[in-house]
Amino acid sequence: MGLHTCKAHELRPRLERGEVGAEELTRAVLGHLDATQPAINAFISIDPEGALAQARSVDQRRARGESLGPLAGIPVALKDLICVAGGRTTCGSRILENFVAPYDATAVAKLRAADAVLIGKTNMDEFAMGSSTENSHFGPTRNPHDPQRVPGGSSGGSAAAVAAHQTILALGSDTGGSVRQPAGYCGVVGLKPTYGRVSRYGLVAYASSLDQIGPLTKDVRDAALLLGVIAGHDPRDATSANRPVPDCEGALSQGVKGLKVGLAREHFGAGLDKEIRQAIEAAAGRLEKEGAQLVEVSLPVAGHPDYCIGAYYLIAVAEASANLARYDGVRYGYRAPEAHNLQELYHRTRSQGFGPEVKRRIMLGTYALSAGYYDAFYRKAQQVRTLIRQDFERAFAACGVLLSPVAPTTAFGLGEQLEDPLQMYLNDIYTVSVNLAGLPGISVPAGLSRDGLPIGAQLLAAPFGEETLLCAAQVLEQTTLN
Ligand code: GLN
Repeated sequence: MGLHTCKAHELRPRLERGEVGAEELTRAVLGHLDATQPAINAFISIDPEGALAQARSVDQRRARGESLGPLAGIPVALKDLICVAGGRTTCGSRILENFVAPYDATAVAKLRAADAVLIGKTNMDEFAMGSSTENSHFGPTRNPHDPQRVPGGSSGGSAAAVAAHQTILALGSDTGGSVRQPAGYCGVVGLKPTYGRVSRYGLVAYASSLDQIGPLTKDVRDAALLLGVIAGHDPRDATSANRPVPDCEGALSQGVKGLKVGLAREHFGAGLDKEIRQAIEAAAGRLEKEGAQLVEVSLPVAGHPDYCIGAYYLIAVAEASANLARYDGVRYGYRAPEAHNLQELYHRTRSQGFGPEVKRRIMLGTYALSAGYYDAFYRKAQQVRTLIRQDFERAFAACGVLLSPVAPTTAFGLGEQLEDPLQMYLNDIYTVSVNLAGLPGISVPAGLSRDGLPIGAQLLAAPFGEETLLCAAQVLEQTTLN
């Protein structure tokens, strides 16, 4: 097994002891990435020179006896909507194909301060709108478990890259499930932090009241390690929470003895694949065997597809229509040639620059916010959002964590759902209400289907309950492997 197959927490002591060099590790990862990129297409850009320069600097500073950060020499890949100064940030879109970010996102600045090695930017659905990574201007990413299937989305590039050992760690973003669902489809761990836990500064906005950056990793310990690095208050993001960074790694290994694990009956209703239901029930059984207490809870609004999918796909598109108004061909990004007046410039730039799903959402969002429809759609959706939050508050009065599926099926075939946007939206039934309520959630591998495809289990906690979440997730992970 090559170095690229190791986890960050395994590599860290070996790097510290000097058994492995950062350059050696980075070369191993880049070599494997180079060989496998054509088949998977998980990356939009790769930066071998930059990565090797960072790795060499780590080796030199270590040789001089300098103290280094917690991710010193560890390769990390970033979803291509997280800004890195001087490099391209495309958001998977033609409109930003040649956009060079003028500054680092706070998460990136924190990775640099931790001495991580930034290897490249990963593929994604355009502006993070999608559940399959097929809505990318740069072509679809393929699932490493079966190249005829999607990796999930919108952070499908980050999930596939981790699953295929093309990077040690990755970051994605989650607005309605985009870290958790691709993690589930690719058999890796995906953590969506509490809203406000990780700064959104330098994360290109899709729906600002829902977006969070989160880790995609090979195991729960690595997710804890990476969250510890990127979390924390940031005065540059007005929605960032002024809370101390939790000791995520320290919280692991506490076990689940006495922990109440809630199962919501609405999460096991129609549309859920039978094998997934069995896998989640088996996961609940394992937690119980480790000392957890299973309790039944009810999420009448948050667990009801009509309410949660409806509210999410109104609020997310309304915010997106406002956020994406800035791509007009004037200040940055693509500008259509041959426009004779300002109106034509806007029209042509946006017609040519955006793909069909992004256009659909801008139109839906603009409609939902327009005079006369605002009360009927947008305000109603905000009221449902409040009910969803209250549902979860009641549930977390009765349990410490909730256990559910991540998605109703395993990874579907490439092209299978592209013609049917509503079907595509239904992939998100177990994930979107979590963003509407601002909760932390994690997707952990919970076995394979008969076809050999990964099945993910989702754990949720009350806001800022990441320590409990990670602790329960690790028990699930360890009992699944056994
Ligand atoms: N699939 C959902 C959407 O298309 C979630 C996307 C995300 O979390 N970025 O909006």
